[in-house]
Amino acid sequence: MTDQKQISWAELGRDYLSHARGIFLVAGTGSFSASGAKAKFSAVCGDIPAVRFSDFTENPQLSEISAGVRLFEKSGCDVIVAIGGGSSIDIAKSVHILAGHATGEHAAILRGEKDLEPAVAGRAFIAVPTTFGTGSESTQFAAVYIGDAKYSLSHPCGLPGAYVLDPALALSAPPVIRASTAIDALCQAIESYWAKDGSKESRAYAAKAIPLLRDNIEAYVSSDDLDVAANMAEAANLSGRAINVSKTTAPHALSYGITKRYGVAHGQAVALTLPAFFTLNADRGDADTKARMREIFDLLGVKDGAAAKVWFTGLLAATGLKARLLEIASVSVDDAEELAAQVNLERLGNHPVTLTSNDLIAALLA
Ligand SMILES: [Zn+2]
Repeated sequence: MTDQKQISWAELGRDYLSHARGIFLVAGTGSFSASGAKAKFSAVCGDIPAVRFSDFTENPQLSEISAGVRLFEKSGCDVIVAIGGGSSIDIAKSVHILAGHATGEHAAILRGEKDLEPAVAGRAFIAVPTTFGTGSESTQFAAVYIGDAKYSLSHPCGLPGAYVLDPALALSAPPVIRASTAIDALCQAIESYWAKDGSKESRAYAAKAIPLLRDNIEAYVSSDDLDVAANMAEAANLSGRAINVSKTTAPHALSYGITKRYGVAHGQAVALTLPAFFTLNADRGDADTKARMREIFDLLGVKDGAAAKVWFTGLLAATGLKARLLEIASVSVDDAEELAAQVNLERLGNHPVTLTSNDLIAALLA
């Protein structure tokens, strides 16, 4: 269980910012103003000095994060506020976790060769998502890249102590971003449900998230309905809570290479291989996995793996996303073999069925 608090903008100002020595604001360049977050943030931060960090890319390199850590340390700020999509929140987590460690140690920490000793006492960390997908505001891990290699920085202090869920913020995002982020939330909830490391608690979060996503994704992508956006904010947050416990599985593990090599947005990349595992898991899983797959099919409102695949593919088409990697890039068998070979083995150990590299290649070329 986590003791995170959901707060309003007014509570952010009153309970966190008004006593701050300084605010370290991590926010991307475009969406911060366009989403309306900038105006809402300015209205509650008053005269407290703020240092803004925006010098990072979507799949953040460690060098960018290390620069952020140095800026944070120099700033003397005691409150970190992350406002933006998954990347902005992940960057803020990484800064919060790594601050106090020498720059030269950051890479070794990421590779698991050196222990973390976070020095977060007396500091507050608040996240305000402007897209509803990763649920990054309710997880303790952050994606960090060194070159093309993806690492996950994970520590309990990475979990924001509080977050603001403001559905209006997501409505400035174009349909393609809404679609990709929303599909990410759905994939995360489904993977969490079938993950080996799932618990009763994480499956309860996922079981709430899946029907909410099933019923709202299409409307969220095609309309500016605030109630629908509020449902998406809640569903993505639940999906984040679910994977914070269970972690993700094969579709996520395969997605990072697809994103890096072909520049495919995260949620779209995950969605390309997930449908292959509906039938694979249902056919080859043990009795527990088979039962879980039936529960997933019930939550989606379909009768079996084949029907789940048809439904999922239809949702991708309805939201303007692609169903096959081969529609996005020309991928040879050699390319697929390379992508499969790069997969993070820890994530595959969490997949409910033992997978061979041929299974991964088949999912990539499906
Ligand atoms: Zn994801």
